Order: sequence, then structure tokens, then C-alpha cells
Amino acid sequence: MKRLRMMRAPLKYVQGKGALLQFRKEMEYMGKRWLFVCSNSGYNSCHEDLEKSFEGEDDYRRYEVFGGMSSISEIKKMQDIVETDKIDVVVAVGGGSAVDAAKATAYYMGKRIVIIPTVAATDAPCTGLSVIYNDDGSFNKYLFYPQNPDAVLVDSSVIANAPVKFLIAGMGDALGTYFEGRASLRTESPSLESGGITRAGMAIAKACYDTLRKYGKAAITACENNVVTPALDAIIEATVYLSGVGADNVNCAAPHSFYNGVTSLGGHEAYHGNCVAFGTLIQLTLECADKAEFEDIQNFCLEVGLPITLAELGDFTDEDLHTIAKNACVKGETIHNLAGDVTPDELYAAIIATDALGKARLGK
Ligand SMILES: [Zn+2]
Repeated sequence: MKRLRMMRAPLKYVQGKGALLQFRKEMEYMGKRWLFVCSNSGYNSCHEDLEKSFEGEDDYRRYEVFGGMSSISEIKKMQDIVETDKIDVVVAVGGGSAVDAAKATAYYMGKRIVIIPTVAATDAPCTGLSVIYNDDGSFNKYLFYPQNPDAVLVDSSVIANAPVKFLIAGMGDALGTYFEGRASLRTESPSLESGGITRAGMAIAKACYDTLRKYGKAAITACENNVVTPALDAIIEATVYLSGVGADNVNCAAPHSFYNGVTSLGGHEAYHGNCVAFGTLIQLTLECADKAEFEDIQNFCLEVGLPITLAELGDFTDEDLHTIAKNACVKGETIHNLAGDVTPDELYAAIIATDALGKARLGK
């Protein structure tokens, strides 16, 4: 049977300076009893304004500062709180781990879920899946949900006050979206949510890319100065919504497999988005893209501070690169969405060639 086309997104998306002050007003239809699963920095940056949004209301609020990772036992702890405190809505306040754990908690308990991202570094807030870890920190599984979050609320001033390196990483993750979608559509691969790719999904991926190119540099300047400008707001929308919803609906390709290859080495600290940006250049090499397009993406990376050489991601031995190439090409990896498929040997060659072109561009 032919695969049905499908489009998924959060039911509600709210973004802007001072959005936290409107939290209660925007979400009140969901319930009266709230559990906020916060990262440490998420609690510090959001607690005061969230409380202000409840002024004069008698809603029950519980804040849990979440120190761990989204592991089975941490999620169980949150489930117990939902049960004993009769929670209606689980709210994630923070980065990746808090978001993944809160999503899983709400799903297992059949409750509503709201995401408040406090950094714009990854696609996690808007997508319909979590990464779950074992208690020892090793990867357990991707947990796929039947729906995307009930709501995502982003306060632009929180992002403006977060370190700029997270925004740059988010732009790296967002850079891959259009090219990964373009590759997946060429082969009629399914989306991340296993539906056929829609025109709407591709249009969002393209809007993500266009926004990055137009406003990326200006957004970085705004974030460095901790102020919200229209350019920064445009880039927050690109990195949180357009990139997240885009990726969910058009799938990933070589850049995300390259990232998984890098993490398979263990101990590498390179940001997800920085690996995805370099992985986008690798994909263009694999696709034998036009010289003009390749150099154009290199220019963008240089403009916003994303890597165009391996050395900017870390120290890799030749053996490391072979391991990355091998693990990026295992069965089920999104690199296989590329036309003509990719072998570890071909990926290794593309990594070396992309790095060499980057070095040449830097005059090294
Ligand atoms: Zn990503």
C-alpha cells in the first residue's frame, strides 16, 4: 500500500518577549494543577515570570528541579509526582533532558504537555519523540508519541540571555533541515514520523533555511548583547519551530547520521548542531552538489561561526573517522535516505574531502 502523506506539529505555538508572563492565560484551558519539570538554569530563568502569570489565581503549582537525564528511573519519579499530586499538565522548562523526561512523563500518565525551551539549541521542543537513556547513561531508545506536544511557549528574552553558543548550535541543527528534506523527498523516504513527506513540510523546511540566511548574523549580534530584535525573533522561530516541525515532517539524512557516528566514539563534546552543520557540507559532497551551492553553505557557516573543518569539531584520528563512517551507516540510519545509498567507505571519503575543502577555504 502506498504510504499516506502526513503532517504533524505542536497544537499551539507561542513566542515572543515576555511570553512567560502570559503562560497561565495561554494554557489555562488545560487544567488547574501544574508540574514544572525544570533544569537548574530553566528554573532560574523562568520561575519568577511563570509565577507572575499565576498572580491572583489559586492553581496548584509544583516545581521540580530536574538534575538528571531522561532515564527510566527519573521518568518514574516524575510519574509518581503526577499521581500523588493529581497533576493535570506537565510542563518542561529547560533544555534536552528536561524536555525529553517531561514528554515521556506526560505520555505515560495520559496528561497534557507544554514545552518551554530555555535554549534554542535543538529540534527537541516541537517534535513528537523523546530520547530515553538507561540509568547508567547509555542510550535506551527513541520513544515515539502519537502526537506532538500540546503547546510550545518560548520567551525570546530567555533565549537572548542564554549563551550565544546555544543559538549558533541551534542554527547548525536548523541548517540541515532543508537539505535533509530535499534528499529524503528525492527518494520518497518517509518522514521522521513515518508519513509521506508533504508539500507543507517541505515549505517549512525551505522557510527555515531562508530565515537562517537572511537573519542569522543579525540574530547572533542581538543575542551577544542580550536584546530581543525582530532578527533574533525570526531566528528563534527558525531554530525552534521551523527546524523542529520541518525535521519531523521531512526526515533527516546524512548530517544526523554523521552526528550519531561522532557520538558513537564516546567522550566527544561537540554540540549536536555543530556536527549537523558540518554534516550538511558532507552531504553536499556525497550528492556532488554544485560548487556554488557548497561554497555558499561554507560562507554561511563562516558568517555565523559554524564549523567547516573537522578540527573545529574536535580531535579525530584516522581510525576515529573510519569508526564514525561505519557507525553512521548502520541499518536504520537516516543517511540511507540519500539517493543511491552510501557505504562507510564513501562516507569516509566525503568526510576527508569536505574537511580538505574547508581547510582550503580557511587557507590552511
Ligand atoms: Zn537535530
